[in-house]
Amino acid sequence: YGDFNSKIDYVFKVVLIGDSAVGKSQLLARFARNEFSVDSKATIGVEFQTKTLVIDHKMVKAQIWDTAGQERYRAVTSAYYRGAVGAMLVYDMTKRQSFDHMARWLEELRGHADKNIVIMLIGNKCDLGSLRAVPTEDAQEFAERENLCFMETSALESTNVESAFLTVLTEIYMIMS
Ligand code: GDP
Ligand code: MG
Repeated sequence: YGDFNSKIDYVFKVVLIGDSAVGKSQLLARFARNEFSVDSKATIGVEFQTKTLVIDHKMVKAQIWDTAGQERYRAVTSAYYRGAVGAMLVYDMTKRQSFDHMARWLEELRGHADKNIVIMLIGNKCDLGSLRAVPTEDAQEFAERENLCFMETSALESTNVESAFLTVLTEIYMIMS
């Protein structure tokens, strides 16, 4: 592993933000370890997980940060955002309020992060289609207006999770390289 690590070309810090219970920790578990747990406890302690992948023949270590239950407005500290080159702005597509809060999460993010940060809006829990409370078009419109990438995902069913992280990491790579 020492050998493996010494070949890392880039380390990209990406932060997960959004209301509590939208599925941030499960998206990370799915991406980093291909795991999902139905009764996930509120995140405590864990700061970040890493996953190394190859982009354009380069070894990229993604360091994905998860809020340690700090989702109350303005409770996420500036240390969390420091050095982030990517952000996943996550809402629960079955909870309208979590989408309505995206604007202020974005405002907070832009207040703290680098101006070139790559941001992806994520509507999670698309497996619960019958409970949908946020039309795809509403999110698309918001994303276009704010210049964000957008995808609907399911951490439960693995839909678009890899793709969402890969899109962000590839975009970061194109900016950094
Ligand atoms: P966080 O507070 O944003 O980190 O949210 P969690 O990852 O802890 O997830 C909150 C709850 O939503 C848990 O009960 C998860 O099992 C559930 N959950 C997370 N992602 C999904 C998903 O894609 N589909 C469904 N149906 N449930 C999910
Ligand atoms: Mg969590």
